[in-house]
Amino acid sequence: MSVSQLKTVLITGSTSGIGLAIAKMYAQKGYNIVFNGLEPNGAEIAAEVATAHNIQHLFFPADMSDPAQIKDMAEQSLERFGTVDILVNNAGVQFVAPVEEFPEVKWDAIIDINLNAAFHMTKALWPKMKAQKFGRIINIASAHGLIASPFKSAYVSSKFGIVGFTKTLALEGGEFGITANAVCPGYVFTPIVERQIPDQMKVHNMTREEVIQNVFLKEHAVKEFITVEAIAESVLFLTDSAAASVTTGIALSVDAGWTAH
Ligand code: NAD
Repeated sequence: MSVSQLKTVLITGSTSGIGLAIAKMYAQKGYNIVFNGLEPNGAEIAAEVATAHNIQHLFFPADMSDPAQIKDMAEQSLERFGTVDILVNNAGVQFVAPVEEFPEVKWDAIIDINLNAAFHMTKALWPKMKAQKFGRIINIASAHGLIASPFKSAYVSSKFGIVGFTKTLALEGGEFGITANAVCPGYVFTPIVERQIPDQMKVHNMTREEVIQNVFLKEHAVKEFITVEAIAESVLFLTDSAAASVTTGIALSVDAGWTAH
């Protein structure tokens, strides 16, 4: 099968939640897509999206906490498609606990997956973007990249870190046609949010419904969860709109008014 001349998008953590919505959006536009994620049925999820939109794709169950697997995924993607024009560093994990009880192994995993992986993937793809004088890098940060919440020390640290990394990339990439931006969502109801409900119930001594209303939606001015499609559209604005080539180094809040406080 011949490789499409259309742009190629690599999205980490794209077999679930926000990453999957971003992949579906680019698939609708006919882009080649490199999928990644640890969902056991990830290969089928990726193939289903690719078949539905008749696009070229690759799927890697690469572990984003392992720099060697990240490098290998980047190299194989470049080999297949010749270029990765848009990189979306999206894979992420969460853990909720008071700082004195926070397991070291969870701290390390969160920093590795949410922050270090973006560095390793960007480093591997940067030379090709620089040579072709075009690149769009989107880092899915969080409202927690701009403000903190208790019991999320590692997550907040990783997300503040990735906002800083984004701004540095913007400064280094400008002369080479590479833009870098962060998207900072408020609460989006995906598995990462669902999975933290039991721990949130424990640390706050609340019921499930109280956690939803009094923890998750408390800070949103608009009292609803943000949709995965809204986040995907904001990514598209940063890569494909008329403003994209001159919008760089920003942290775009799509957070229902959370950080307006
Ligand atoms: P999700 O749990 O649905 O998706 C996370 C994806 O990351 C999955 O595909 C998972 O397999 C992948 N992943 C996790 N660890 C990995 C690893 N070691 N190697 C490779 N892939 C790995 O959650 P989501 O809400 O779609 O989260 C996507 C991003 O959005 C994350 O960076 C998250 O921090 C961020 N975010 C989410 C929210 C929210 O409310 N859902 C808010 C702000 C930011």
